[in-house]
Amino acid sequence: MDRSSLTPDESRATAWHALAAFEVAERLESPTGGLSDAEVARRRGIFGENALPQKRPPTVLEVFLRQFMSPLIYVLLAAGIISILFADVTDAGFIFVVILLNAAIGTFQEVRAERSATALQQMLRIHARVRRDGREVTVPAEDLVPGDRVVLEAGDRVPADIRVIQARSLTVDESLLTGESHAVEKNPDPINASAPLADRRNMLYAGSTVTTGRGMGVVVATGQYAEIGQIAETVTASEAGKPPLVIRMEDFSKKISLAVLVASGLLAIIVLGQGMPPFEVFFLAVALAVSAIPEGLPVALTVALSIAASRMAGRNVIVRYLAAVESLGSCTLIASDKTGTLTVNQQTARVVLLPTGEEISVTGAGYAGEGEVLDIHGAPVTGSVRDRVESLARAATITNEAVLERTDEGGWTYRGDAIDVAFLALTYKLGLDPAGIREGAPAVAEIPFESERRYAAVWYREGEAVRVAVKGAAETVLPFCRTMAAGPGGSIPLDPDRVQEEHDTLTSRGYRVLAVAHGRVEGEISAENPEIPPLELLGLVGFIDPIRPDVPDAIRRCRSAGVDVVMVTGDHPATALAIARELEIADSPDEVVTGAELGDPDVTTLPEFIDRVRGARVFARVTPLQKLQIVEAYRESGAFVAVTGDGVNDAPALRSANIGVAMGSGTDVAKDTASLIVTDDDFASIVAGIEEGRYAYDNVRKVVYLLISTGFAEVLLFMLALLIGLPLPLLAVQLLWLNLVTNGIQDVALAFERGEPGVMSQPPRRPEEGVFNRLMIEEVLISGTVIALVALGVWYWLISNGWDEFAARNLLVLLMVLFENFHVFNCRSEYRSAFRVPISNNYLLIAGVIAAQGIHILALYIPFFQDVLQVQPVSPVEWLVLLALASSVVIVMEIFKSVRKHRSPVHQTGYGVG
Ligand code: ADP
Ligand code: MG
Repeated sequence: MDRSSLTPDESRATAWHALAAFEVAERLESPTGGLSDAEVARRRGIFGENALPQKRPPTVLEVFLRQFMSPLIYVLLAAGIISILFADVTDAGFIFVVILLNAAIGTFQEVRAERSATALQQMLRIHARVRRDGREVTVPAEDLVPGDRVVLEAGDRVPADIRVIQARSLTVDESLLTGESHAVEKNPDPINASAPLADRRNMLYAGSTVTTGRGMGVVVATGQYAEIGQIAETVTASEAGKPPLVIRMEDFSKKISLAVLVASGLLAIIVLGQGMPPFEVFFLAVALAVSAIPEGLPVALTVALSIAASRMAGRNVIVRYLAAVESLGSCTLIASDKTGTLTVNQQTARVVLLPTGEEISVTGAGYAGEGEVLDIHGAPVTGSVRDRVESLARAATITNEAVLERTDEGGWTYRGDAIDVAFLALTYKLGLDPAGIREGAPAVAEIPFESERRYAAVWYREGEAVRVAVKGAAETVLPFCRTMAAGPGGSIPLDPDRVQEEHDTLTSRGYRVLAVAHGRVEGEISAENPEIPPLELLGLVGFIDPIRPDVPDAIRRCRSAGVDVVMVTGDHPATALAIARELEIADSPDEVVTGAELGDPDVTTLPEFIDRVRGARVFARVTPLQKLQIVEAYRESGAFVAVTGDGVNDAPALRSANIGVAMGSGTDVAKDTASLIVTDDDFASIVAGIEEGRYAYDNVRKVVYLLISTGFAEVLLFMLALLIGLPLPLLAVQLLWLNLVTNGIQDVALAFERGEPGVMSQPPRRPEEGVFNRLMIEEVLISGTVIALVALGVWYWLISNGWDEFAARNLLVLLMVLFENFHVFNCRSEYRSAFRVPISNNYLLIAGVIAAQGIHILALYIPFFQDVLQVQPVSPVEWLVLLALASSVVIVMEIFKSVRKHRSPVHQTGYGVG
């Protein structure tokens, strides 16, 4: 067949699983060294991007149209149409102008939120390791084309449909495609062409994930041509849920709406009885409903949360669901990994302890093969000691998956596990060449390192013999050992106690200690299920991994913010304690619990388990399953837990936690289950996320405060006016104007408030505590009442002093606009004086206030608005009086804040008991 013309259709028609691996490679013209860049570009032209057709984001026009899909707008539209019928064309025109302005404001807000969500999505793209032009490179998964050779390992998401060429203990979770939840083992052997998808043991399908092992294969189908493309509708349709806070607010809005409708109905009956024409009654009821129903609330909250999400992204925290923004703020406990999160995971081998007691020190730092290997006197090692250090390094190079190479520029590049890279650095420091060592030792079988196994082994050929090299945690490797290396070429029986003792001294000094051993296999070995023969211990190696510089401060910040920090690690208890001490997480060995102790058969009941967990600050030698149990125990005892993870097996713990935090360097599986991703792996970023989460919650409260209190004020004003027997204080059109235009700008601007100081020196908010705590109720009642009473007083005075209703309302509308613009400054902080919140914290809000005031002043002078709104220019004296009256709400709320501060010295924004 003419290969260069392979088309998507032909590719689909081919039963790749029935072909031998070499045939697949041949048909797809996939050379061992990978495709060339030019060829990749050509194929992309034919097959397109390796991406499923995305649900296109809504256009601005669509978002705009969506603004009209609300019951309230329907009612308004109806009111507009009825106005036309009553031949009141200006009123109708006005209603339509108001609806349009309101929709424009809403569109602006939503498009903004949408944009930042897409930007975040971009940061979550997955990558694939692929061979191109003879080199292994990492590319975005969208760049793959058929014929690409992809390398996969545990935790990776399968990026395309792939025919397996090589597999080592490769198992894959295909539940997304087959519904089968067991991991399926994969191997390269061809199978029957008629085998159904679930039985194709030599195929990997996009959308599945690698659970264990390693593999390499050739891409046979990408994007919409992949199997998942067929079922994509069902898979990608799952829409991210709305944040619980937004759901609660929608719920709340609905309840208020109902109450308001009842109230408006009652009011309507009263004014009808007073002889108002039915149409005007209807119009008024609508306008009142618009004032009191916080219809803008859900949108404003979504905006607040998405602003927080993009602020978090700026601090290296990527939020996968908006809900996580809210939950981060109420986190009470962080269960953190040690390696890589609290430490930099720049492992460096510092000491080598030979079984016979010689301590060798290694100089040089970082991932570079430059440094010296010195004996106890500081002289380079020689003779038998050197030989034994070399054979240790050799074994550790053979059972090693990393690469460390000198670049052309004289620097170093590396790839792979930190411990593995560090071992390679040691090999270089001895003057040996890792690549040469590996070439001389072709592998025949392998147990790759996986965190719960705690060791790695490679069987390799050396001449006629098959040998094995092993490295891993001492307590895992030592039981395999019978002998230990001694003297020149000699071997003596293992002295476990002595080795243990030396191991313990190293760990208590904070070193991560690994043991290295080797052995020789008698007879044949099976590649699938190799056995470890009795080994000879070559020595112990101590690694240091410096603490991240910003972590100690972050932990202190957690403490003052009432957030507990515990360490969960696969490492040795003594190593873990040494680091925990340095970080002031723990201090005595009593606070360390090991996985073995957690698995203790004596601890049978859940309360006992929870007890044991609660007494601990450090969990060492913990398996991923135990990590899950720890998370569950903490949740059971009432904590709101954030847990970090990176591996495949961390997924259950990440899912079960209130906040799953995946590491940017972690596996796709971990990122897929977590609710946030910390791109720089840094613990300090999690703390920054908590801080932003708290700011976000504060801003949500500010928006709610403003919206509810102003609505409440207007309704109260009307009720009181009716009660006293005054004429209705505002016209329906004026109410609409106040609520949909002049107030529509500031509420969202509050969502942009910069965080206030002191937020991180308060205990976390109780997760079950709602926005409407006592503080919120007090604020709303007091400020709303002040506005209503002052406005009522003005209305009363004007009417009783013989003003005509038209002139009096003109002043009242302006007063209400001024009230809104003053009150928004009260809402900028729930406990700080409005005068202490720097203007620079929120220029948008200032602009919003100026815009709202400006638009109203314009309306005072433009004939059309003068006509419908029934307004006219106001004299300077009247301006001054109204300004003074409007400032009353600021004065009262300032007094309220300062009284509260004296009542309870700890300001409570909602974190404390409300
Ligand atoms: P952590 O929770 O600190 O990240 P890991 O799960 O990575 O710990 O490692 C657990 C243990 O496995 C380590 O203490 C070490 O003894 C061993 N180990 C770590 N990396 C390797 C490796 N590349 N090869 C062999 N053993 C390793
Ligand atoms: Mg690790």
